[in-house]
Amino acid sequence: MTVYADGVRYQTMYLPCGGVAEFDESSGISYRCELCGAVVGSIGQSKHCKEESDKWRAYEEAGMWKWDYNTGESCAVRANDKKG
Ligand SMILES: [Zn+2]
Repeated sequence: MTVYADGVRYQTMYLPCGGVAEFDESSGISYRCELCGAVVGSIGQSKHCKEESDKWRAYEEAGMWKWDYNTGESCAVRANDKKG
């Protein structure tokens, strides 16, 4: 599941845990964190990795900050980025 990709296919995802996830060509649908060795969004993902992702997701939903997986940098959520 590309749960963090929002329909965007990244070649490389820069994760807030400090890991980098490459697109897993063999599965065609997932990204594997090089730091944890786990598929991003899977139950195999490490606690730290998951917590960081959840934290940024919560910030984004609060309309404050979001994590840019393309660049590995945080940025402010602009008004027109907000969903719903
Ligand atoms: Zn990780």
